[in-house]
Amino acid sequence: MSQALDILRSRFGYPQFRFQQQQIIETLVAGRDALVLMPTGGGKSLCYQIPAILRDGTGIVISPLIALMQDQVDALAQNGIRAAFLNSTQSFEQQQQVRRQLRNEVIDLLYVAPERALGADFLEMLAACRIALFAIDEAHCVSQWGHDFRPDYQKLTRLHEHFPDVPRIALTATADQRTLREIEQQLMLADAQRFVHSFDRPNIFYRVTQGDNNRQRLWHFIQQNHPDDAGIVYCLSRKKVEETARWLSDRGRIALPYHAGLDKSTRAEHQRIFLQQEGVIVVATIAFGMGIDKPDVRFVAHLNLPKNLESYYQETGRAGRDGDPANAWMAYGMQDVITLRQMMAQSEADEKFKRVLHQKMEAMLGFCEQTGCRRQTLLAYFDEILEQPCGNCDNCVEPPVTWDATEAARMALSCVYRTGQRFGVNYVIDVLMGNARDRIVQNRHDQISTFGIGELDNNEWRSLFRQLIALGYLYADIDNYGALKMTPDCKPLLSGEKQLLLRKFAKPTKVKKVSTGKSATVLGSVDTPLFEALRLHRKQLAQAQGVPPFVILHDKTLAAICEQRPESIEQLASIPGIGERKLELYGADLIRITSQYPRDQSRSETAIDLV
Ligand code: ADP
Ligand code: ZN
Repeated sequence: MSQALDILRSRFGYPQFRFQQQQIIETLVAGRDALVLMPTGGGKSLCYQIPAILRDGTGIVISPLIALMQDQVDALAQNGIRAAFLNSTQSFEQQQQVRRQLRNEVIDLLYVAPERALGADFLEMLAACRIALFAIDEAHCVSQWGHDFRPDYQKLTRLHEHFPDVPRIALTATADQRTLREIEQQLMLADAQRFVHSFDRPNIFYRVTQGDNNRQRLWHFIQQNHPDDAGIVYCLSRKKVEETARWLSDRGRIALPYHAGLDKSTRAEHQRIFLQQEGVIVVATIAFGMGIDKPDVRFVAHLNLPKNLESYYQETGRAGRDGDPANAWMAYGMQDVITLRQMMAQSEADEKFKRVLHQKMEAMLGFCEQTGCRRQTLLAYFDEILEQPCGNCDNCVEPPVTWDATEAARMALSCVYRTGQRFGVNYVIDVLMGNARDRIVQNRHDQISTFGIGELDNNEWRSLFRQLIALGYLYADIDNYGALKMTPDCKPLLSGEKQLLLRKFAKPTKVKKVSTGKSATVLGSVDTPLFEALRLHRKQLAQAQGVPPFVILHDKTLAAICEQRPESIEQLASIPGIGERKLELYGADLIRITSQYPRDQSRSETAIDLV
């Protein structure tokens, strides 16, 4: 095994294996199959890259993400590992060259799309080469129930039929028990050793904010936590994507729209800028997703409620692949609840499907409204138990205050009733607050007993109504201009049989600065001038080579340099993420730049910072 560890240290520059990487690598090196479920950012790639280097011949990696292949190959080249890819973006000559490389065994890894891997000529070519292993990435694409279904994936058993002695590894970050079984069956991996790692993404901080004026809240969040970080903002509609991107741009951020209505080249261009430049925000519909392998996305924000927790988890999972602190932030308000409730009511699916849909939406709403640890709920949804509250979500850090809302809820419900269940939220709140608007006076609702009865302010009433709708006491009738209607659930509440404890409205101004985000934690107590100088240097290197900055060096590695101030090549070699090749290529310059920023000065600044 020391051989694998040797490669990890010398080529990749990492001191230790993570999770079950070592066992997985051993399994493949011994010629056996493996099925791996590891969260995003867990380090799946090394699990097949190292055995491909160790075993004779070339490792064939099946990946559905053509857009990523270039980055993967570039990143390997940075570590002095020879790799190539074959896909439709290449010219005939380029493809011929790769074929030669494969035949001559000068590459350790070859990335191909599934369609290509199944072609007769490709199989024929493989028959004439030595194959180290087959790695099937994003293996959940075999599942026809999943949203990433790729029919070709189901045919990948052909590889096994042609080359029964070559070990295989299937990897995914998104599979529940059923999908894992499907992968096993579809790919004939019944004898494969299973390595299932926790789903948890401990570095992601989950926050759900309640209230109105989403955009303003988003801006506040970005300004406070991510003034120059890269992030993704998800919206539901194309229009909202466009508007939000423009809005953020007007405020000085580089924010690019991405949705299915844009032509292919614009989308590709926006994706390229997001990957290659630093600090870019992409505002997108869910069309932007798979294939975004950028490790340093520091935040994912939702301006609309995702339709279920699976989507939420997958989308937020694009933050913090590098393992550094990242934020999953969601704006959630009255309109979201109303929309979701309406979708449930209107769905025309058959009964069984509807029931499933309904449960999923309820789970999503429950997650937003809950007062306990968010991570416990998320993991429980994926059948995983987290014993203790996580300490890294909004509810753990600032436990929400609950209050006995029984009396106020009764006032609200009876006001809905007395105004005839014909008016929307704003109107009913005006009545409760005693605002004698023209319409209210005309309707003589200033005469009813619930006029001006409450002591809550507008925000507090809205929060109450939102929860009453979320909890199913009221619904907004879309055919009736959103008029609030009561459901049978109101009865026990009105008759006093039931008590209602609700989350207290938290004033947005009290939102505390989250202790995540680059400036706060990734950098730790690192001094900014050196970090910025290193970043600038990295940017120049990246531009000269035409690769994204993170392919050269990760933020984490730069931060470690700032922290440890290496003065020699030997010292630099101990920084995680710098293997022999990067040491050779960049070592001298990194040390030269570091020496220009003496430690003492930064230490005293840091000390003041910390006080
Ligand atoms: P995944 O494919 O599981 O999402 P990657 O293979 O891209 O994740 O790895 C995520 C990050 O973790 C990469 O930057 C990788 O270099 C790093 N990494 C992987 N294994 C280790 C390790 N043993 N020690 C330190 N960093 C690691
Ligand atoms: Zn928590």
